[in-house]
Amino acid sequence: MKKTCDFCGKRLDDTQLWHGKLAGKICHYCVSGLYKGLTQEGFDMAGFDSMPSTSRELLGDDEQEFIDIPTPREMKAKLDEYVVGQEEAKKVFSVAVYNHYKRIASNMAETNDVEITKSNILLVGPTGSGKTLMAQTLARFLDVPIAICDATSLTEAGYVGEDVENILTRLYQAAGNDEKKAQMGIVFIDEIDKISRLSENRSITRDVSGEGVQQALLKIIEGSVVNIPPKGGRKHPNQEFIQLDTTNILFICGGAFDGLGEIIKRRMGSNVLGFGQVQKTKSEQDDILHLVEPDDLVSYGLIPELIGRLHILATLQPITKEAMVDILTKPKNSLVKQYAKLFELDDVQLEFEQDAIEKIAELAIARKTGARGLRAIIESFATDIMFDLPSMRHSKVIITKDCVEHKQKPTIIKPKKPRESKTQGA
Ligand code: ADP
Repeated sequence: MKKTCDFCGKRLDDTQLWHGKLAGKICHYCVSGLYKGLTQEGFDMAGFDSMPSTSRELLGDDEQEFIDIPTPREMKAKLDEYVVGQEEAKKVFSVAVYNHYKRIASNMAETNDVEITKSNILLVGPTGSGKTLMAQTLARFLDVPIAICDATSLTEAGYVGEDVENILTRLYQAAGNDEKKAQMGIVFIDEIDKISRLSENRSITRDVSGEGVQQALLKIIEGSVVNIPPKGGRKHPNQEFIQLDTTNILFICGGAFDGLGEIIKRRMGSNVLGFGQVQKTKSEQDDILHLVEPDDLVSYGLIPELIGRLHILATLQPITKEAMVDILTKPKNSLVKQYAKLFELDDVQLEFEQDAIEKIAELAIARKTGARGLRAIIESFATDIMFDLPSMRHSKVIITKDCVEHKQKPTIIKPKKPRESKTQGA
């Protein structure tokens, strides 16, 4: 059970809080900070020699940036607020992120005897299934900076495109140019499957195989000190650099890995596709992704060294129609809630009929871009309504299925009372 330090507000375990004879509780970080401050100012510290050792161990000589690590359960609960479904992936992800930051805390301790090596994460799942959303949600929850980039835009130095180091520049900028914060941040690299050696999505300006980019990524993922241009752009000799140590940066790679199912099936042979078996349905085929093993990813065209650095593998399921409906309505900031809020700001009440919600979900499935397509579908019929929104104050707008499907006008229930004349010309 965690409690809060009355001085800094950090939530900590009981063992990290000191009560003594005080009226409140104080954590060892504050005790340590006070101790340091007082000794530096020549305060007589006789009798203060028994400062809790954990403070010294965790803080070392330089004050370290500290992250209050929530438990995996707390992280999963936070993810549940925003990410629909993907139960297994959310669990694996929460444990991995928890272990990552616990590892940093442990490696910082002076008494540490076993160095825990870094584990980065590979999220395999179709586009628009929540991979980026999961990473963003936890970064916000942990209050660590995050940089999101697309692997297809990356190149080795010397080719047209973005240098791999620029990802780190973005992280540095996301950390408000704070080096220490950036070194504890998260980098999310999407579409990692598109730089596989066998990928068809090749760029003529990039090295033919994509392997060069993988090698360049490997260098920063495995943990090294990298010179980065603080303002981004290409490296050139007269530029100023800052050094960023990537040892404690958590790298999360995501990709749809189209066709990976076939590779897994081939490996598993008759266990999956035995003679006489009834043909599998689409969702059963998709389910096969959770059986993925590192060798399958090598067959897909990722270099073994890179896979060796992405120890933790989580798979996400394609979004079903039911999940689309939930995504539209349930998360804390679901699109339906967001649009209702937008309308409410103009004093207009917004309601979606169930048929309309289901139609939006169906249209999104047809687009094959996962839940990513939902917003564009709503925009396609909502723009016209929002155009006249300021003149509809106190009304209620009901979105029907026809409104979604055939762009027909929504049902509008006008206010009972006539509007005041001063708002009419608005
Ligand atoms: P990708 O898997 O391609 O990284 P994203 O996480 O970027 O997909 O998802 C795109 C958008 O779709 C998100 O911003 C979010 O609004 C929505 N979305 C996707 N999957 C989910 C999900 N499982 N739960 C809630 N929203 C989702």
